[in-house]
Amino acid sequence: MERTLSIIKPDGVKKNVIGEVIKRFETAGIKIAAMKMLHLSKPQAQGFYAVHKERPFFDSLTDFMTSGPIVVMVLEGDGVIAKNRKLMGATNFKDAEAGTIRKDFATDIEKNVVHGSDAVETAAFEIGYFFNGLEIQTR
Ligand code: GDP
Repeated sequence: MERTLSIIKPDGVKKNVIGEVIKRFETAGIKIAAMKMLHLSKPQAQGFYAVHKERPFFDSLTDFMTSGPIVVMVLEGDGVIAKNRKLMGATNFKDAEAGTIRKDFATDIEKNVVHGSDAVETAAFEIGYFFNGLEIQTR
């Protein structure tokens, strides 16, 4: 069974769309295997986004990710990495397909409501960054 990490970013929490995002996952047949709310420190956000440390937007992105609480989830299901990416829509909401989370709720290329792992290896790293094995329930 495949797993992926989903984050409802600070803008999504502020917009009060936690339930709406989770509803879309559950409607698509995706199971939530772990979930918690937390507020990242700057070093924690920098560690999570370490792959982007050379990008020009790294400082702004990690500031944004520490600007308020986030909801982190482990999603589980067949092909869940790709399924979640499809539900999220393109990074830039302007390019996202109609009916995707980012098209419906994002306002900015950076403040794009959700994060989702993009491959099996990144999912393993990202899940381990936030959860230990005892906190993940296969249902
Ligand atoms: P994702 O996998 O669709 O989240 O996109 P990336 O891995 O390419 O980028 C990670 C995150 O960095 C995105 O979700 C955005 O929040 C942010 N980001 C990506 N591109 C840009 C950009 O050009 N400018 C800014 N300010 N933020 C960006």
